[in-house]
Amino acid sequence: MSEVIDRSLLRLFRKMERAEEDQRIRERKRTPRRARPRCGARTRQGTPCEALAVWDFENDRPRNGRCRMHGGLSTGPRTEEGKRRSQEGARLGGRVSAERRGHDGVGIM
Ligand SMILES: [Zn+2]
Repeated sequence: MSEVIDRSLLRLFRKMERAEEDQRIRERKRTPRRARPRCGARTRQGTPCEALAVWDFENDRPRNGRCRMHGGLSTGPRTEEGKRRSQEGARLGGRVSAERRGHDGVGIM
């Protein structure tokens, strides 16, 4: 009997926690979708891209002003170390991980 009550109390408690979280999200000030900037990249038709720029919800601003198709998601490594790692990966083409799996790398590419 008390077990049933315990469980329903727990469920109620979780429900209240969720409601509080929803309230916090709703109260947070953020730029409405219609007020967010467009991508503006030049399309193949020569017109500016009208897609919304990728939005950084944490900071309530666009990531870099471009949409997901025009570099908004990632524009590649920026630091020298990152660029070096990227080039290394392209040069080795999977041979390093093959070695770790016990393959000699021959016949991979
Ligand atoms: Zn775009």
